[in-house]
Amino acid sequence: MTMNKPTLRAPARRMHPMISCTISARRLSISLILAVLSLVFSTPAPAHEIARQKLRVVVFGGHPDDPETGCGGLIAQLTEAGHDVRVAYGTCFRGDRKLGGEPEAIVRRREATAACKILGATPKFFDYAHEKIEASPATLAAVSAWLNEVHPDIVVTHWPLDIHENHHVVSSLVWQCYQRRGGWNLYFFEVMTDQQTLGFHPELYLDIGKVHSTKKTACYCHESQKPDEFWAVHEAMHRRRGLECGVETAEAYTLVEAKPGCALLPLAFLNKK
Ligand SMILES: [Zn+2]
Repeated sequence: MTMNKPTLRAPARRMHPMISCTISARRLSISLILAVLSLVFSTPAPAHEIARQKLRVVVFGGHPDDPETGCGGLIAQLTEAGHDVRVAYGTCFRGDRKLGGEPEAIVRRREATAACKILGATPKFFDYAHEKIEASPATLAAVSAWLNEVHPDIVVTHWPLDIHENHHVVSSLVWQCYQRRGGWNLYFFEVMTDQQTLGFHPELYLDIGKVHSTKKTACYCHESQKPDEFWAVHEAMHRRRGLECGVETAEAYTLVEAKPGCALLPLAFLNKK
């Protein structure tokens, strides 16, 4: 008689509910620790996110002292917040004119460089004489090439209605670059309003109280331009714009449009009261 060999089978393991629960809790704890560690040692934010935090802003003026008088408060606040501001000057000299025995271009660039240093910005000088800068295809190509190289998030330039031909030419050049490229937002500023800038109706007001003295110091770097005189005009503008928005001193701007996907100036603008 053959007997079937009994099958040897390991007894089924029955886990005690309490032990099972303890292991699950342990697994959960390990998962939590791993999750926390992955957060702590996670890779840095992608470059595009960092770029969004630190903006590159171009302030494009006709002459040395225009960006400082029109936007000195804005530039100071942007650089204090860690943003990269490039200040471009369309023209720094007239023909072979000299100031105090020195070529005008050398004097004006030296003054503008000192002003930019105070404001924490980087200057860019275009090499056109006052009488030579025009909205021609060649000049447009040069300005466009520089803007493409700088790759700004935002550009701020002269309001186009201005009695000074250099101001409205620069504004026209920037406007044409804006229409062609479209990868940045465009704002306008004012200078010597009612003497140079005309028909400007701002909608964005910037309280410049905290950086007022920095702006003044930067403007006074332009010793060759009689700063007492132009500062007095701008100080009256600061107070006029301040009254309009309910602070002591302000600068004023307009934004052409808020383009989807393009950064806006990261400052707390006030509205007209
Ligand atoms: Zn000017």
